[in-house]
Amino acid sequence: MALKIGILLGDDIGLEVVPEAVKVMTAAAEQTGLAIEWRPLPIGRKAHEAHGTTMPPGTIETLSGLDGWLLGPIGHSAYPRNDPTWFNPPLRKKFELFASVKPVRSYPNLPSVHKNMDVVFVRETTEGLTRGGTVVAGNGEFRPNDEISIGMRVVTRRGANRVARVAFEIARTRPRKKVATVHKAPTFKLVCGMFAEECHKVAADFPDVTLEDVLIDSFALKLAMKPQQYDVVVTTNTFGDIFTDLGAGLAGGLGLAPGICAGEHQAMAQATHGSAPDIAGKGIANPYAMIMSGKSLLEWLGHKRGEPQAVAAAKCIDAAVDRVIAEAKHLTPDVGGKASTSQMGDAIVAVM
Ligand code: NAD
Repeated sequence: MALKIGILLGDDIGLEVVPEAVKVMTAAAEQTGLAIEWRPLPIGRKAHEAHGTTMPPGTIETLSGLDGWLLGPIGHSAYPRNDPTWFNPPLRKKFELFASVKPVRSYPNLPSVHKNMDVVFVRETTEGLTRGGTVVAGNGEFRPNDEISIGMRVVTRRGANRVARVAFEIARTRPRKKVATVHKAPTFKLVCGMFAEECHKVAADFPDVTLEDVLIDSFALKLAMKPQQYDVVVTTNTFGDIFTDLGAGLAGGLGLAPGICAGEHQAMAQATHGSAPDIAGKGIANPYAMIMSGKSLLEWLGHKRGEPQAVAAAKCIDAAVDRVIAEAKHLTPDVGGKASTSQMGDAIVAVM
């Protein structure tokens, strides 16, 4: 059966990098006999111009019936603050996309702070401190008087257990088979304590995977000094938000930082970078992050839906991207090349 995948361009460079991901995924699907039904859907500034809202109701309804989708970056800071029709699409919460999976990898011939990095971050995305994740209404913060502000952090056994399970499942497929659970349980005995307890419970179901506890402050040092020691890292929402960006920075920057947000039944491909208004329209955005996010979506759907052609298509993209990077003839300026966004996408397709 065809995979139903939505295309949500987002804003600014989203209009340039998402079409490259679609182009590469389509070529890989043709190679492996995978059928994909694409569903372009309006979102962001273009949707506001056409429908008066950044997230038209039809978009949400259609997403419910899809296997997954590509979401381009949303240019939040360009949105007028007091206009209720502009909002950050609540897709993670609405579709229970609870695990943000972000592979961070350095390449020998590209500039990076560290070489030989190959880490997968798994961040919980529906709980913790982050606005919208903690409460049904409101934003999880309040100010009882002008001298005090209070923020709530939520960890549930279910939330911790399911994200830990994603981390162990990924670790099981990797050569080193190691998970580091990052928290501060000795200090935050209840919230971090519960997260760590659930990671240990899940570990019992994966005797082939090694689990290590790392305190968040010590992790900051160890990641900065020797990130090569980590394989799969699982952590709570806000810790993960910060450390996935640090990981991306150590391995080569935002142009090389892909990701997916996965739930029980659906997943969304979303690169770490924002909409980069400073380079939008110039045709120089690096499409790697969005292309590799699309690749991860195919891999995830392939395993979830039992579609070997989708897993094969993901492998095909991996191999082609590796070759284009190793040859270094069609790279965008952020990684030292001279190619345009579409020339890099074309080169990946040509290799396939
Ligand atoms: P940004 O990630 O858009 O840009 C930071 C820097 O990295 C810029 O110099 C940019 O040119 C560069 N960069 C980013 N992606 C690149 C790519 N693919 N290739 C080459 N260079 C790239 O962060 P920002 O400038 O802080 O935010 C811009 C807008 O994006 C804001 O409106 C912000 O709210 C929004 N944002 C959205 C998301 C999202 O939707 N996931 C994430 C972060 C920021």
